[in-house]
Amino acid sequence: MYLPKLAIASLGGTVSMQSQANGEGIVPTVRSDGLLASVPELKTLAHVAADTLGMLPSASLTFEFLLSVLWWANRQVEQGAVGVVITQGTDTLEETATFLDLLWNHDEPLVLTGAMRSATEAGADGPANLLDACRVGLARNSRGRGAQVVMNGQIHPARAVRKTDSMALQAFTSPIVGPVGLLVEGTVHYLRPPQQRTVLPVPQQTTQAVALLQASLSADTLLLKNILALGYDGLVIEAFGAGHLCATWAEAIDAIAQKIPVIIATRCGSGSTASSTYGFIGGEMDLIRRGASMAGFTCPRKARMLLWLLIGCHREGDLARYLKEDAWLH
Ligand code: ASP
Repeated sequence: MYLPKLAIASLGGTVSMQSQANGEGIVPTVRSDGLLASVPELKTLAHVAADTLGMLPSASLTFEFLLSVLWWANRQVEQGAVGVVITQGTDTLEETATFLDLLWNHDEPLVLTGAMRSATEAGADGPANLLDACRVGLARNSRGRGAQVVMNGQIHPARAVRKTDSMALQAFTSPIVGPVGLLVEGTVHYLRPPQQRTVLPVPQQTTQAVALLQASLSADTLLLKNILALGYDGLVIEAFGAGHLCATWAEAIDAIAQKIPVIIATRCGSGSTASSTYGFIGGEMDLIRRGASMAGFTCPRKARMLLWLLIGCHREGDLARYLKEDAWLH
């Protein structure tokens, strides 16, 4: 019987974690073949090629490592995979999904998933999430949608999704827009049509450093004022409300924005920065005058990755255009 080819890579994370000894805490243990064994039904759906690319907690994934995952995934598609599934930790899933989406130059779906409960916990969600992710990876209606995150029966677009709960089973949401699709009785349903996607070239340079600072009440300017001296190539600030800073931070932006790109995003977790509402010192109109770019709907962590990639392919000049794209809302 003809079965399509599906490629799966495991990077680590809770989905692969088990405790080695009583009371020791869980660590990445289960390799990709062990994950496959937890979803026997998959054999009836696809020919699966599975690789273990890492055994890491997702906090320790790096951009360079993700570029090697991208290289692996590109090869799988070139060799005939109709879709690619990646399992990893959920802590940074929203970031890795966006990073790969910005570079994924195929119609074939790239699907990321993980688990909130380890393999040995009662009610472990890893097998269900993996099977769902594979269904999404195999579905024809997933084509042209770039990278997506599948968790707890929902499909989220890479650029919109965020981890918004630290331990709950329903840990992922796409603020404002909601999930782009659902799995019902094993069938993949989409709620919105695919959007036009822009893809960046793979960065030639990976040594750039982009800082991410969060504004908080009555914060000092020690780190901010040393950003240039520390050698950073870009700065993202997770600012108050619609993209606001206190006067002392705002004044420090002048010198920094003359030398490196500065992005102002909101720390609210949902919603857009403003551009033409507030006129006080440190308000968005003042920060724009000082040379900062407003992130719009782009979440601060994703804005940092976008800037890192743009610097890496010498396209910093396109930053404002990329931040304005509707893709962050689909
Ligand atoms: N709690 C995490 C997870 O869900 C650990 C990690 O991100 O690796 O996988």
